[in-house]
Amino acid sequence: MNKLQEKRPSSAFTTVDFDRMGKQVGHIMFPHSPHDDAWGVTRVPVAVIANGTGPTVIMEGGNHGDEYEGPIVIGEITRELDPAEVQGRLILMPSNNIHAAMASQRTSPVDGLNYNRTFPGNPYGTITEQISAYITDHIFPLGHAFLDLHSGGSSLDIMPSAVIEPTADEGLAKRNSAAARAFNAPNTVVIGNLGDPRTATATACRAGLTTVGTELGGGGRVSIEALAICRRGVRNLLAHLGVIDRKHQTVGNADGPTFELKGTAAYVFAPCDGIFEPFHALGTRVSAGQPAGRIHVVWDPARPAEKVHYACDGIVYGCRQPGRVRPGNCCSVVAAPL
Ligand code: CA
Repeated sequence: MNKLQEKRPSSAFTTVDFDRMGKQVGHIMFPHSPHDDAWGVTRVPVAVIANGTGPTVIMEGGNHGDEYEGPIVIGEITRELDPAEVQGRLILMPSNNIHAAMASQRTSPVDGLNYNRTFPGNPYGTITEQISAYITDHIFPLGHAFLDLHSGGSSLDIMPSAVIEPTADEGLAKRNSAAARAFNAPNTVVIGNLGDPRTATATACRAGLTTVGTELGGGGRVSIEALAICRRGVRNLLAHLGVIDRKHQTVGNADGPTFELKGTAAYVFAPCDGIFEPFHALGTRVSAGQPAGRIHVVWDPARPAEKVHYACDGIVYGCRQPGRVRPGNCCSVVAAPL
């Protein structure tokens, strides 16, 4: 199954047995030796629900610590799902970037790293690199499918959507697309992160897993709408993959719109310091060259506001949440019809 490199040596250990039937809730333990805890561990929560025969589905939340819908739903599934309802195995990981999750931050306060830019990790690197290495070497090889539940986080508000991870493997691309549509979010979007290979979803694809991502609201809050989409979508996907009964599946999104973030043209970046005023609500149809908003330099009232412009046609898919921007900050994101 595993198409990645060989397992690298690691000092991490688990309190669950991935091969045991039934339900277990425990931790992956990473020996961690900071000033106040010489021989302690960083504990990454993990639950295993296994029964009968069927695929193994790995569900991740808390990849970024300020995105909450996914972790909430993974916790609910952990508590509510009876092993008898499962055919196969669920590996449920609600807070993989645990230090970031406990701090409600995108990045880890321990080493400053964005977990989702550290794959394939390093088993003897910083704590975040150790976690991504363990997922790469020890978790992905167990799986047939991977669901990475993101939201927009503190800095972005994003239209709730299922995300297709692009891959050069045509068979896998079809499976990814079918699985993302089965999630049945209001929108389905292809997001390639400008080709960055260091994400969890890109790594899962290299390991051959059917891979689905999400973007569920954002702004560092819990969205009522996005949480409902997440609760429904997770069950839809598990039914699509055959791990729970298809009676849990709502109508698939086979005819819903599909969009794509088309390279750098998808993004509107701030050219200067100031306060960003967006011109359009999420979901508005816009075209290349149209003003996306303007940046007010409120501490220099004689200076006119500076307009920024969309670089492609599509819909406004994401918008910066805080008003304050600095040069290079992402103000808007446009998704183009596929
Ligand atoms: Ca995210």
